[in-house]
Amino acid sequence: AKRAGRNRVSYFTRSLQDDAERRMRLVADMHAAIEQAQFSLVYQPIVHIASGKVRKAEALIRWQHPERGHVSPADFIPIAEETGLILPIGDWVMRTGIKFARDLQARLGETVQISLNKSPVHLRNRKPGYPSVVELLAEYGVSGSLIAVEMTEGMLIEADEQTLQRLYALRDAGVQVSLDDFGTGYSSLSYLKKFDIDYLKIDQSFVRGLSAHSSERALCEAMIVMAHKLGIEVVAEGVETHEQLALLREAGCDYAQGYLFSRPLPAEHFEVWLRENG
Ligand code: C2E
Ligand code: CA
Ligand code: CA
Ligand code: CA
Repeated sequence: AKRAGRNRVSYFTRSLQDDAERRMRLVADMHAAIEQAQFSLVYQPIVHIASGKVRKAEALIRWQHPERGHVSPADFIPIAEETGLILPIGDWVMRTGIKFARDLQARLGETVQISLNKSPVHLRNRKPGYPSVVELLAEYGVSGSLIAVEMTEGMLIEADEQTLQRLYALRDAGVQVSLDDFGTGYSSLSYLKKFDIDYLKIDQSFVRGLSAHSSERALCEAMIVMAHKLGIEVVAEGVETHEQLALLREAGCDYAQGYLFSRPLPAEHFEVWLRENG
């Protein structure tokens, strides 16, 4: 028993070491990725259900690593948040998204609001050299109405006074604020009112299980009814089937996003898609 115990400990220790090494490599690689422009943004249309029109899209980061290939943001964003690298990465995301919104409007002659994911760590920690979204909008001469910011529920629960002021500054600049992954965290609907949220995004875990007699259907309907009573619009994420879309339409959901319409697309492909389907 003693030996087994010791083996278990050494095995465990080794795996933790591997993990630490893996993380250190990933951190070093992320530094290089920023310098070598290995990141890009892809854009996924957000469809207005009643009209079928597309006037919004979400920007999602992609990392093409020279040896590992595609690295998922679900893997590297959490480590970027823990190590502070989210600041340069988030700054790059905001700049790239804002410039894209501006250029797209200039080329199409109509507004497509670009929704940018903002890490709570990025919103909380202001550092010299990293301007706020409001400052970036001024720098690029872009109206706040071209941009939305997506943040998660945890953000609001932990919000300190400074963070709140930054949220209000965003609102004052005309930037819409959207609450991501709604239903997966702990926040109550009262947060939505208190922080003057414009949209909530029903998490794809609810949409995945949507069918006529599912509990997900009842949950989606309840979220939509309550959001509307508070004057908040609703986006459903991860919509993959016509059945899901039909049930969401019936429930009065405002917007849908998912593979049913389009996967997230590189900038040029998104623009072509928009001209053909928008
Ligand atoms: P999220 O913000 O909830 O983004 C939605 C995710 O669902 C994206 O994964 C998107 O590609 C995926 N998706 C869209 N439609 C469908 C569908 O119909 N079915 C399924 N199964 N999935 C769908 P992605 O791009 O891998 O991003 C994962 C997460 O990484 C994001 O979740 C977000 O939390 C984070 N992330 C992505 N880009 C950024 C960024 O620029 N900044 C920050 N801070 N986080 C980001
Ligand atoms: Ca999002
Ligand atoms: Ca989400
Ligand atoms: Ca999510």
